Amino acid sequence: MASRRNIVIIGGSYGGISIAHYTMKHTINALPDKESYQVVLISASSQVMSRPACPRALISDDMFPQDKLFADIRSQFSQYPDGSFRFIQAAAEAVDHEARSVTYTVEAGTREELSFHALVVATGASSTSPLMGFNPNEASLKESWKKFRNALSSAKSIVVAGGGPTSIETAAELGDYLNGTSSSPQTAKVPITIISGTSQILPSLRPSLAKSAEQYLSKLGVRVLTSTRVMTVSPENAGRTITDLTSPSTLTLSNNETITTDLYIPAIGTTPNTSFLSPALLTPSSQIETNTATLRVSKAGPLIYAIGDCSSYARPAVHNILSAVPVLGNNLKRELLLAAGKSEGDVPQEKVFKEDKRESQLVPLGRSKGVGAMMGWRIPSFFVWLIKGRDYWLWTTGGLWSGKQWAKEA
Ligand SMILES: Cc1cc2nc3c(=O)[nH]c(=O)nc-3n(C[C@H](O)[C@H](O)[C@H](O)COP(=O)(O)OP(=O)(O)OC[C@H]3O[C@@H](n4cnc5c(N)ncnc54)[C@H](O)[C@@H]3O)c2cc1C
Repeated sequence: MASRRNIVIIGGSYGGISIAHYTMKHTINALPDKESYQVVLISASSQVMSRPACPRALISDDMFPQDKLFADIRSQFSQYPDGSFRFIQAAAEAVDHEARSVTYTVEAGTREELSFHALVVATGASSTSPLMGFNPNEASLKESWKKFRNALSSAKSIVVAGGGPTSIETAAELGDYLNGTSSSPQTAKVPITIISGTSQILPSLRPSLAKSAEQYLSKLGVRVLTSTRVMTVSPENAGRTITDLTSPSTLTLSNNETITTDLYIPAIGTTPNTSFLSPALLTPSSQIETNTATLRVSKAGPLIYAIGDCSSYARPAVHNILSAVPVLGNNLKRELLLAAGKSEGDVPQEKVFKEDKRESQLVPLGRSKGVGAMMGWRIPSFFVWLIKGRDYWLWTTGGLWSGKQWAKEA
């Protein structure tokens, strides 16, 4: 339909899928001439996954029911009237925010350009290790897990770099699986070493929780080196590319130690997936410069928004996305209604996002323990297990992917 007004959302994960459902449920029907609008979700992957589960899921398919860990995106949207929604499996290659178009190549190899009336960018961030998410899709993730699992069965040592939750959870899951829960770094069947550049692991939590985590890790056969940086890795791409994912490697550290290891996992940060946007729209760390209150990409012009790990709106975390969805959904609706000729009195008022910056992080340490805090309150190990460690939030994602979570307009 040539005259369609496309509301394009790029990236099919926590941010993109949520905004797509929110818009389908609460915005399209409110627009005059609603048949002229289409929500188009463009994502590099045909599936969505519960990404926080990666530290355990990478060990074996037996860790989680695979039909809960992964979900097909198209079928989550079959509930909406024909023609109102379209899914395109493709990676966006260029967005021209002035001409208001997005370019991508579909699987058959054809390059296509789609104009947009409104745009939401939700392309997240890629992890340094291919084991931790879609870099860029489910096929690459499953290939890396397969290769890692093959090497895991004969690995005699593992090094995990990073002091954040991904590193700590991964080392703990591997320790629980390989060494059990009554081990020690000295007696472990497969010694595991965490190398943390910060003086405290889990720097978003209070020091006493980081200390408890170190004690639990020790029982899983995990040694923790703090205030230590990995200076060189040989081969250079060990753990970073699928080719060198399981290459035995030698690391030199800032404390002058040299470690050789069978498996090296660089769980050290992420890179925003924003290379298809004009650099003028990005911060120095390549996030999309987003108004932290309205979630608009103000420099890009009207009706352009960003959410999730590609955006500068807040810390990268699912709970921030869930709080931001109703704000972005509302502000997009308001702007679409105004653009369709509605008057100020007939449209919802602008909503404002405010990040909750209280200490909030739950960190499972293997399959029975954990440390963490929520909204500033320390959470005992049993409840960390109950809320997150039991199934790494899989109990929450069904409603998110299907849109049930967004049934009510907030
Ligand atoms: C190992 C790990 C554990 C985590 N644990 C937690 C946790 O316990 N709690 C928590 O709150 N947060 C956690 N996080 C952070 C959380 O996973 C992210 O905040 C969340 O996944 C971000 O969602 P998103 O929608 O921004 O994008 P992502 O989940 O990063 O997904 C981006 C999507 O966009 C697609 N895409 C990328 N580039 C393009 C393109 N050019 N065109 C089209 N599509 C594209 C990708 O294929 C992907 O589907 C964890 C992250 C990791 C890596």
